[in-house]
Amino acid sequence: MGSGACLVWLVVTLFITVVAGVYGLVVGSFLNVVIWRVPRHESIVKPRSHCPGCDTPIATRDNIPVVSWLILRGHCRNCGEPISIRYPLIEILTGVLFAAVAARFAHSWALPAFLVLTAALIAISAIDLEHFIIPNRIVYPVGYASVVLLALAALLEQDWTPFGRCLLAALAAFTFFFLLHLAAPGGMGFGDVRLSFILGMFLGWLGWAYVLGGLFAGFLYGAVIGMVLIVVGRRGRRQHIPFGPFLAAGTMTFVLFGEQLVNWWRGFGR
Ligand SMILES: [Zn+2]
Repeated sequence: MGSGACLVWLVVTLFITVVAGVYGLVVGSFLNVVIWRVPRHESIVKPRSHCPGCDTPIATRDNIPVVSWLILRGHCRNCGEPISIRYPLIEILTGVLFAAVAARFAHSWALPAFLVLTAALIAISAIDLEHFIIPNRIVYPVGYASVVLLALAALLEQDWTPFGRCLLAALAAFTFFFLLHLAAPGGMGFGDVRLSFILGMFLGWLGWAYVLGGLFAGFLYGAVIGMVLIVVGRRGRRQHIPFGPFLAAGTMTFVLFGEQLVNWWRGFGR
């Protein structure tokens, strides 16, 4: 690549990264609505957001991601009820992860699919941490949308190999988790089994090493954090620890840094 083409490539990457980051803040604001309403079986489109303290609808000027929370110093404009710092944190997390995923997939047609995955994993993790469920209302639509978006990416890139691999990997991950679910009922919920289908699909798009690495990282995170929680006495040995957030973190680790991690691992074989 010439230095001119290289510069254009960099500018395009930077542009897509910044746009995705800003877009992520807005998506994060929507995810806050999803995280609150989906486990409570409420509609995610109406009514518009209202203060949980005084029920006043939140004005558009008070609904700007992160900025509004900072200006209002985390309180409702009407009644002064504190607004959890979780809201701006989810928005910032979504913005940062959208920017990171966009930087990684700036020149791939699979970018929209991976942004959908990112948003879904943030919502699923937050809900699983609080309610110990992985809602079908998120998993099914995201699963269907992902198949369509990845098929479209394969069509545009005129290469169906990753798509075939992603379907096989989704089935393989689902089967593996289903067997774990059968082997230890109560250990792993069926929500995790359904989620593994989606994780397998995206990791499979990237390659088989990513499937193994991403799922293994999920188990590793779960085991380490689980042991730490038991040691510091925050959780009993028999108490339930949600597994979704760890699986999500393992997958995102390999979506973002898989290339480096897989190369690093292969370096050992030489
Ligand atoms: Zn209020």
